[in-house]
Amino acid sequence: MFPMTKKLYIETVGCQMNVLDSELVVASLRKEGYELTDSPQAADTVLFNTCSVRQHAEDKIYSALGRLKNAKQENPDKIIGVLGCMAQKDQKLIFQRAPYVDLIVGPGQLHQVPQLISEIADGAGQQMEVSLGRKDGGRAEIERSHESFDPLRDPTMRPTPYQAYVRIVIGCDKFCTYCIVPSVRGPEQSRPPAQILAEARQLASEGCKEITLLGQTVNSYKFKEGERTTRFSDLLNAVHEIPGIERIKFVTNYPKDMTDDVLETVRDLPKLAKYLHVPLQSGSDAVLDRMKRGYTTDDYREMHDRIREWLPRAAVSSDFIVGFCGETEDEFQATMDSVREYRFKNSFIFKYSERPGTKGAERYPDDITEEVKRERNNRLLDLQNEISEADNQDFLGREVEVLVEGPSKTATRKDEADGPVLQLTGRTMCDRIVVFEGNQRQIGETLPIAIYDANAHTLFGNVVTQHVGPELFTLGV
Ligand code: SAM
Ligand code: SF4
Repeated sequence: MFPMTKKLYIETVGCQMNVLDSELVVASLRKEGYELTDSPQAADTVLFNTCSVRQHAEDKIYSALGRLKNAKQENPDKIIGVLGCMAQKDQKLIFQRAPYVDLIVGPGQLHQVPQLISEIADGAGQQMEVSLGRKDGGRAEIERSHESFDPLRDPTMRPTPYQAYVRIVIGCDKFCTYCIVPSVRGPEQSRPPAQILAEARQLASEGCKEITLLGQTVNSYKFKEGERTTRFSDLLNAVHEIPGIERIKFVTNYPKDMTDDVLETVRDLPKLAKYLHVPLQSGSDAVLDRMKRGYTTDDYREMHDRIREWLPRAAVSSDFIVGFCGETEDEFQATMDSVREYRFKNSFIFKYSERPGTKGAERYPDDITEEVKRERNNRLLDLQNEISEADNQDFLGREVEVLVEGPSKTATRKDEADGPVLQLTGRTMCDRIVVFEGNQRQIGETLPIAIYDANAHTLFGNVVTQHVGPELFTLGV
């Protein structure tokens, strides 16, 4: 007899690392006969892959768990699991706050999920597997306890089958004072290049065209094997050789590790996106020092000047934290000035959220009121939007190459004489979002698009059709 199909509901919060981890967990559970459902009520197993970078992300998960309490009472066989960064951070506290949770698994132990679920189903009771904390042993031992979990892939869990994330660095050693990541994701470890390349080749053979290399500090990648050291730029060159891969992106960059060999590689290799996400976090030296970011505003300026020398047209984007401990109005103004100076393509702006266990929480009071944080967030966002919109206007009348990702979020469908027309979305080589009308068959293709309109977040265009006749070559815009 065939085993019955079991239904899995999985919800993912947080960064690209978590999206990738969920893809891998789903792939491993499919092998055990699970199928995805979009209803937590109908699921045999409900998993939350969590984030602990900000309090808000954790609150969302505890509320979602609260909503499942009755469902668990009605069906005690339903397995509820909390995976990822919040599992590593809160550990048994999750069992205390939500005693009906069956499973807690940290990001370094995700390979154990299928086995643990099967033990719970067999009546073993609550299970927890987490990695060692940063002070719980020698470095090698802690590194081993944060295992990279990457070989299995599940194309159906990816945003599109043409795009995939590949992890190249796990963990982080920078210890910015506000950040929980080094505690929950463990020490910085670069994966062996052979593993990364095998995974990228496999993805290309499945039809994947765009690969985004992931690391908290992706450009810090370095792998030593005997006498041989593979630098980040060497890895980029090797991935570039893989047939079928058309685009390569990488996030997130650490400003101090943006070396000239990386910039030269991005300039010279055509498949590399001309887009660099290099968070500045604050425009004030005093705040950067309190954040222990490891660079000054002059260091960042020097790096940005080099980006402009090597890649004059590349898009650069940033992250900012507003309302960090003790941030004065003048210090915040310095951040506003830096956004004016660098004219980032876009910025992700966050209100500081104190994380217990970080140096920031130990050393500095979280003394900026929520109201001031919100107000600074809005002012910075308004300024960034103004800049993004003005810079996007430069694209009017220009033609860009777009990898088509799928229907746009607000997709409208019209049926016309030559078939249904869909509103599609994709991205340029410099990571700008483009919306245009097309058809289903164009998803996954790289198309020339002529831009006729733009706002702060999106370019709007038409597919450029090429009519090649005797001595006739027209661009139908
Ligand atoms: N490793 C990346 C880097 O160094 O830029 C980013 C990792 S973090 C998951 C993404 C962003 O979240 C950070 O760049 C920072 O702006 C923000 N962030 C991290 N900790 C935060 C906190 N405690 N409160 C608010 N924002 C935070
Ligand atoms: Fe967090 Fe800083 Fe590491 Fe980024 S570099 S993950 S912000 S500690």
